[in-house]
Amino acid sequence: MTDLSFSYLSELRCSKCDERYDADTLQNLSRCCSAPLLAVYDLTALRDELTPADIASRPSNLWRYHELLPVRDPRFVRGFDEGMTPMFGLPRLGEAIGVPRLLVKDEAPLPTGSFKARGAAVGVSRAAELGVRRLAMPTNGNAGAAWAAYCARSGIEATVVMPTDAPTITRSEAALAGASVTLVNGLISDAGRMVGELVGRGGVFDASTLKEPYRVEGKKTMGLEILEQFGWRAPDVIAYPTGGGVGLIGIYKALLELQTLGWIGSKLPRMVAVQAEGCDPIVQAFERGEDEVQAQQDTRTIAFGINVPSPLGGRLVLEAVRATNGTAIAVSDEDLLSYIGRCASMEGLLPCPEGASTMTAVAALRKSGWISESDEVVVLNTGAGNKYADAVAVELPIVQRDASLVDAQ
Ligand SMILES: *Cc1c(COP(=O)(O)O)cnc(C)c1O
Ligand SMILES: [Zn+2]
Repeated sequence: MTDLSFSYLSELRCSKCDERYDADTLQNLSRCCSAPLLAVYDLTALRDELTPADIASRPSNLWRYHELLPVRDPRFVRGFDEGMTPMFGLPRLGEAIGVPRLLVKDEAPLPTGSFKARGAAVGVSRAAELGVRRLAMPTNGNAGAAWAAYCARSGIEATVVMPTDAPTITRSEAALAGASVTLVNGLISDAGRMVGELVGRGGVFDASTLKEPYRVEGKKTMGLEILEQFGWRAPDVIAYPTGGGVGLIGIYKALLELQTLGWIGSKLPRMVAVQAEGCDPIVQAFERGEDEVQAQQDTRTIAFGINVPSPLGGRLVLEAVRATNGTAIAVSDEDLLSYIGRCASMEGLLPCPEGASTMTAVAALRKSGWISESDEVVVLNTGAGNKYADAVAVELPIVQRDASLVDAQ
C-alpha cells in the first residue's frame, strides 16, 4: 500500500493523547483534542535500511533526510536546493561573554532569508502532493514570504494575513510572489482569527503554524543538520528564539528520532526557549511550573518573529525544554539590540533580532551559572539581519560634497 522508499512516514498522532490519524489525507488539528498532529515514521524499518554514511553521500540540502520527511513522491519537491546551512564559531563574541565554545547555526542563507523556508519547503511540497490548490495562513512576515515563494513554485494559490508592523520587506516578498496579502492592524492572533473565518467557508487549506502537521517536519531538519554537523553527537546547549515554538519542537523531534535510529547516544542538548520580555507566555508557564501556556495581551517586541501571544504548541515546547533539562528565559529589546551590534562588530555577522535574542540569553545564562565556561553552545540565527532595515537602522551624518574625508574623521 504505502511505498516506503522515499518517505518512511507511517501515520499521524495526536500530540496530546496519541490517537492515530491517516497521514495520506489532508489533516489539520486532531479531532479528539484539537491539538497539533505529529508525523510518525517507521523507524524500526528505517534502522536497518539507512546509515549516516548514506546521508553523507547525498546532496547538501535538507532533502538528504527524505526518509524522515513526509513527501512520498520526489516529483512534488519543487524547492530551491535549500538547507545544510553553515554552522560556525563565534569566538570573539563567545570570549566576551565567557562562552568560548559558542557556535551559530546561521539560517540567513536560506531562500527568502529565514529558516521559515524549511517549513515551507516541506509543508508546501506535501500540501501539493495531497492535492491542495489554495491555502491561507497568518504570519509575522517571514513565513508569509517563504510560503508565498514555495507556493509560486508549486502552483498553489496563497493567502497571507500579516500585522502592519511586520518587516515591510516580507509583505513585498509575499505580494511579488503572487500571494494575496492582507495587512491587519493588530497581532498575529488577529490575523489567525481572520484566516480561520476564511478557511471555515471551505475550499482553502489552513496552513497556520501547527494546524497542519508538516511545517514542523521541515523545521526538524535544523536539528538533523546540527547533529550531523557535530558528527552525530549533541552539543551541550541549543538556544532557540521561540515564538510559536515550531523550530524547538522540530529540533527536539529530530533528537528523539535520531536516538531511536541509534545514530546519537543518550546525551541530549539542554534546549533553551528564548523569548522577549514583551511577549513571554512560554517563559511564564515554565517559571510557574505549568504544562499549558496562558495567552498574553498587547504583546510587543522588535523581534517580530517571536511575537506570538498565544502559541498553540506551547505545551510541546515546555515538554521539550523540561525533558532535556533545559530552561526558558526572556530578554529585553534593549539588550537584544545591543547584541545585534556586538555580533556584527565582533564577528561580521549581522543577526536578525530573533537571532540576537539567543546570544543575549546565552550571555545571561552564563552570568547566572546555568551555562558553564566549558559548555558547547549553539545559538540559532533564524534569519538575515538585512531583512530588518528599520530595526538595524544606524543614524549617520551626511557631509557636503566638497568636504574632506580627512576633516570628517
Ligand atoms: C518565525 C520566526 C521565529 C520563531 O519561530 P518558531 O519556530 O515558530 O518559534 C524566530 N525567528 C525568526 C526570524 C522567525 O521568522
Ligand atoms: Zn487527542
